[in-house]
Amino acid sequence: MTRQQNLTILGATGSIGLSTLDVAARHPQRFRIFALSANERIDALSDLCMLHQPRYAVVAHGVQADALRARLNSSTTEILVGTQGLAQIAAHPETDCVMAAIVGAAGLAPTLAAARAGKKLLLANKEALVMAGPIFMQAVRAHGATLLPIDSEHNAIFQCLPSFACGNLVEHGVRRVLLTASGGPFRDVPRERLQDVTPDEACAHPNWVMGRKISVDSATMMNKALEIIEAHWLFGATREQIQVVVHPQSVVHSMVEYADGSVIAQLGNPDMRTPIAHALAYPDRVEAGVGSLDLARIGTLDFAPPDLDRFPALGLGYRALAEGGTSPATLNAANEVAVTAFLERRLPFLAITAVIEAVMNALGPRPLTALDDVLGADAAARRQAELQVDAMQVKA
Ligand code: NAD
Ligand code: MG
Repeated sequence: MTRQQNLTILGATGSIGLSTLDVAARHPQRFRIFALSANERIDALSDLCMLHQPRYAVVAHGVQADALRARLNSSTTEILVGTQGLAQIAAHPETDCVMAAIVGAAGLAPTLAAARAGKKLLLANKEALVMAGPIFMQAVRAHGATLLPIDSEHNAIFQCLPSFACGNLVEHGVRRVLLTASGGPFRDVPRERLQDVTPDEACAHPNWVMGRKISVDSATMMNKALEIIEAHWLFGATREQIQVVVHPQSVVHSMVEYADGSVIAQLGNPDMRTPIAHALAYPDRVEAGVGSLDLARIGTLDFAPPDLDRFPALGLGYRALAEGGTSPATLNAANEVAVTAFLERRLPFLAITAVIEAVMNALGPRPLTALDDVLGADAAARRQAELQVDAMQVKA
């Protein structure tokens, strides 16, 4: 009999958060929902609290805490507020497992707190690792945290590697990792037509239903750029060992190629509950609510090289990795500002990567030795990106 684990979900109202609750609720003997957080959707969080009766719920501000308290009047759920509340539930002594599913840099502090508390840490919030790679991995090692990737590609690679080896891949007989990319909603759209695409068009992903920020990242392919950097930190893969392959069906979630020429792939229906269930139950396997893969119905699996001219974001990801230091944090922060501006219709689609490149050119890489270096680079890149958005908005 496995012991019941206390599960904390950072970002419970999001796409990954809700899929995590769906999987966990299928296995009440294994998982107890211990703490949930949300940023703005208090109605949704209140429904989740009534359903799962967590010990803690965390919201952004006091006003939202009052609203949640009013809705839950007789509940036993204690309501906490802000970044302190998030760090508290991430590192709580009774928390066994943390799902890091806040989107963007806002997730860095609580995700790092979970690593420093030596938790079993399920990482969906790739931005945290991209920003603070060396500090994050050092915290995982120093405090004995168990880091399990949720991103479908990285979860696939994890499953295809002999053991969770962050270090010398060559020693493990690995030649390279092959990251698959769906190509997003604009895979075959000519560049000149991308100038006028709307946020809703960019968020209409062919294979996955996701939050709006990652959906835009998929449309620019910045998501794959972030994933290249994520793979570097998770698996100790060099730039040369990470290759991107466009695979429109999103059935092969990624692959590992070995020295003897063997290529091991992980396949499945495109449903995030598979990697979530894999990581939640690791090293066991549990039912995720995902149907069987019907390869005969799918018929064909296509593969193609990425088009670096139409999707310059990929090149920026490789560049940030080559520059090292604060460069990935700069790339990430500039992207967050540009994507927000695009979603608010302040910036045309094609200007997203132009803003990021301009910010990287203006700031250059700085050494990264402490968390303050990361936070400084993040803040500087946000300021610079706002200036670039203003400049490009005028031109638009
Ligand atoms: P989402 O927008 O659906 O949900 C985001 C969650 O974060 C929400 O619960 C929201 O309340 C919370 N949040 C947002 N801003 C916050 C802030 N400032 N402070 C505290 N909480 C905040 O996003 P998602 O699609 O679930 O993605 C979550 C993370 O998982 C992202 O890092 C994304 O890249 C990654 N991811 C998502 C998918 C997917 O299929 N959705 C796949 C792979 C990786
Ligand atoms: Mg992914």
